[in-house]
Amino acid sequence: MANLTIPINVRHVRAFTDNYIWLIESPAAPERLVAVDPGDAAPVLEELRRSGASLAAILLTHHHPDHIGGVAGLLEHGAVPVIGPDDARIALRTRTVRDAERCNLADLGLTFDILAVPGHTLSHIAFCGHDALFSGDTLFSAGCGRMFEGTAPQMNASLDRLRALPPQTRLFCGHEYTAANLRFALAVEPDNESALEHLAVVERLRSSGLPSLPSRLGLELRINPFLRCDDPQIIAAACAHVGAKLDGPAAVFGALRAWKDNFK
Ligand SMILES: [Zn+2]
Repeated sequence: MANLTIPINVRHVRAFTDNYIWLIESPAAPERLVAVDPGDAAPVLEELRRSGASLAAILLTHHHPDHIGGVAGLLEHGAVPVIGPDDARIALRTRTVRDAERCNLADLGLTFDILAVPGHTLSHIAFCGHDALFSGDTLFSAGCGRMFEGTAPQMNASLDRLRALPPQTRLFCGHEYTAANLRFALAVEPDNESALEHLAVVERLRSSGLPSLPSRLGLELRINPFLRCDDPQIIAAACAHVGAKLDGPAAVFGALRAWKDNFK
């Protein structure tokens, strides 16, 4: 039985303009990689060629093309398990995982707890294990995904589940949106010292061509307004923005999400 607490090495490749495809090294055999949300096969194949590694499995958080579009191309080079949520829009899935299930890739020494996190899409899941969270487009560093299919109460409840994970959890999300998210976070909370400091760190990393990720959940609890919809300061900012009293965290979340949707 794989031990959830064994740390993992995670590589990244970029796809499209701002997607990350995470490549998890098997603790049992580091030359065997598990790809998370391969929206494009080409950069993954290039990394496999470059490093002499092989693909051992594919994990999918949700059905959007920029997260699953590379699956067919990867499978042309050999069959591997394709593990994802119960959604007919993910046609190449070979194994379905559901909320509260433990996804065990025993031969790779990897185990992930599955969390259903509806909101961005209705069947969106997150993979959590080895002090790492693969959150797809649900939780971003300093932000969260747009609500394409779910409701504000659903998405807020999903983020509640993620914020309850241990603070040392490393956050691997689907996109490099951190700097723009921090600018919005600072519009909500102009005096948030942690967000100000982190924006300087992120701008340095980005100007050197480095990813701002992974983040850590403990940091996200300080810089991400969407994880603190029950915080008096966030509530006050959201109420001031809409010019009305907002009743409860889901309403605050909905107001923040709509604010961000129109934020330039
Ligand atoms: Zn998406």
